[in-house]
Amino acid sequence: EPGKPDFVLLDDLTKDAFMGNLRDRFQKGRIYTYIGEVVVSVNPYKAMNIYTPEYVKDYKGREFWEMPPHIYALADAAYKSMKRYLKDTCIVISGESGAGKTEASKIIMNYIASITNVNSRAEIERVTGILLKSNVILESFGNAKTNRNDNSSRFGKYMDINFDFKGDPIGGHINNYLLEKSRVVHQQNGERNFHSFYQLLLGATDQTLSSLHLKRDMSAYNYTVHNQTNVFTGQDNSSRAIDDKRTFREMTGAFKAVGFTHDEQKTLFQLLAVILHLGNIEFALNGDTVSIKNTQEVAQIAELLGSSKEAIEQAMLTRVVAARGEVISKLHTHEDTGFARDAFAKAIYERAFSWIVQRINTIIEVKLDITRYGMYGKSTVIGVLDIYGFEIFDNNSFEQFCINYCNEKLQQLFIELVLKQEQEEYLREGIDWQNVDYFNNCIICDLVEQPHKGIISILDEACLNVGTVTDEMFLEALDKKLKGHGHYQSRRLSPKDKDLAHNQDFRIIHYAGNVTYSVVGFMEKNKDQLFQDFKRLLYKSTNPVISDMWPEGAQSVKEVTKRPLTAGTLFKNSMIQLVGKLSSKEPYYVRCIKPNEVKSPVQFNEDRCAHQVAYLGLLENVRVRRAGFANRQPYSRFLQRYKMLSSYTWPNHQCKNDKEAVQALIKDIRYFLSVLFLNNIFVMLAKFNKFILYNHMWRG
Ligand code: ATP
Ligand code: MG
Repeated sequence: EPGKPDFVLLDDLTKDAFMGNLRDRFQKGRIYTYIGEVVVSVNPYKAMNIYTPEYVKDYKGREFWEMPPHIYALADAAYKSMKRYLKDTCIVISGESGAGKTEASKIIMNYIASITNVNSRAEIERVTGILLKSNVILESFGNAKTNRNDNSSRFGKYMDINFDFKGDPIGGHINNYLLEKSRVVHQQNGERNFHSFYQLLLGATDQTLSSLHLKRDMSAYNYTVHNQTNVFTGQDNSSRAIDDKRTFREMTGAFKAVGFTHDEQKTLFQLLAVILHLGNIEFALNGDTVSIKNTQEVAQIAELLGSSKEAIEQAMLTRVVAARGEVISKLHTHEDTGFARDAFAKAIYERAFSWIVQRINTIIEVKLDITRYGMYGKSTVIGVLDIYGFEIFDNNSFEQFCINYCNEKLQQLFIELVLKQEQEEYLREGIDWQNVDYFNNCIICDLVEQPHKGIISILDEACLNVGTVTDEMFLEALDKKLKGHGHYQSRRLSPKDKDLAHNQDFRIIHYAGNVTYSVVGFMEKNKDQLFQDFKRLLYKSTNPVISDMWPEGAQSVKEVTKRPLTAGTLFKNSMIQLVGKLSSKEPYYVRCIKPNEVKSPVQFNEDRCAHQVAYLGLLENVRVRRAGFANRQPYSRFLQRYKMLSSYTWPNHQCKNDKEAVQALIKDIRYFLSVLFLNNIFVMLAKFNKFILYNHMWRG
């Protein structure tokens, strides 16, 4: 092994030594390195020959220290812990956009699928097959090419895999978080819409396309016309060229394998087509009245949505409102129409995406069957979290704000569990402890989420006053309330920045870097309004799949009075819930690092890597690990596993408590435990009748 397989083993723990080890290993093709049980992974930007069945065999059932570092070891540890101790575990994968989180999550899922399906049992194969295949579908619909990553996740995903008491997968559940739906109608320079659109246009048969009234031509559609270079050929220097044709086949194959019906899949394609047609709708202004220019498109949309031309036209040009008990119809202004059209397209896509997730969930849902869970009466889970990574674009908006806040929350979880609680535990146990300092980003989480004082609350307040508060006024409110906060900077008030563009900016000093957000569109995106007329239209669709996606369209005009929660608040709540879910499980961490900005398999950009190492708190992580014990277990767990080695503890001990029982056990089996001298202390762990040596050298 080149360098040190575990950063804990570095002779001198300095930033330079850490970086040297990381670089060394990366350049010699070792992309994984440990910090204790945390896996640090550097994106190799090339296919690695380390995920073969032979590797699976090598890591299966082994302990961390037995083999060179590999993400398989972490997956195996999570699995073993779940199976041995019936503990729910979770694997949290973090890192910035393009660092390799999604790839890591797939590698982990594949590993779990292959170690559990040893006897090729049909039911297990079915479950793991669905779990793996559902990834393909979600990536088609939820990923896109951004300037940072050709296959960037534009949604957050948390997947629970359920196991029965024998450790066989029996089902699962997916939670999805805030899809970046603004991408449906607009992409930044050099970026693409969601993969699904291009896959359909390039991969579908002529017959399918003509039934959807589509041309095989991206430039024919406003929503896909941008960025024609590099996009369709994938001829940039990415390690994996985008091949929409091929992935279309994979996507349709996955739909079939997972269990979507032909009609369901067809409907999803119809909705994609509807969105493409919607993007081409233009409005004309004659005097005071607005009309739709392209009537042919309207007819096609009507057909694809299972609706009528008149209904579509009406929904696009007017809205009905309840005023003093009466229902009246109001004409949109010219400006409203464009906004309404885009909102319609975004809502269709977002709802279709959530519907896909729900559909997968009903298919893989665990059917409660007490006989299968045996005496424990419950199933255990391994959760895998793969979200959108921290990102800074040229132009950052509400979506980046949410994404970066989400990353703050995960960093906070890591700090809480790995840095804070661990140190507190040593103090609690009365162990001599030199405190390790670290930056706690709690203050930034508060800045965003605190009730009344946080940015989301201020935004919600601004959104209460529909029509009267502008984005700029919202910014003023932010400046007023947050002035002087160490992690908030106003650009509006700064005397140096007089030019107009900056009048719309604020900046957050994030744990991972400074991001300047433009407030333009913040309020609109937070309110996330879709005129009721569209919901009713979709609910009334003759296509049962579409109607099923829009149950709230059943409400009559007068019924709809309650103000829905804003997008920001919903997201905040879902993040808090997610963190709660993760902290109830035994966590395993994968910390992904992006070696360079150019997707190169050889370049190791010193500054960029050092920056990531710093904000991920990896050095602090090593310090805490190094100062602490490499292996710790509660007495009860230790007993449960090793009590059969001594007659004092088997089948039950007579001691006062578990602590004394462990002492008695250790004393009794002392002859088993020999001490080896190699200027280090070796700790021996009994594994049934086999002994494993664990080099405990850094404690020395
Ligand atoms: P985002 O936050 O934007 O979703 P991410 O962290 O999920 O980013 P990935 O999509 O996993 O990033 O990785 C980006 C690209 O890097 C992949 O498409 C692939 O080309 C390459 N890559 C990442 N990990 C590996 C790996 N283990 N082996 C080979 N290539 C990899
Ligand atoms: Mg991803």
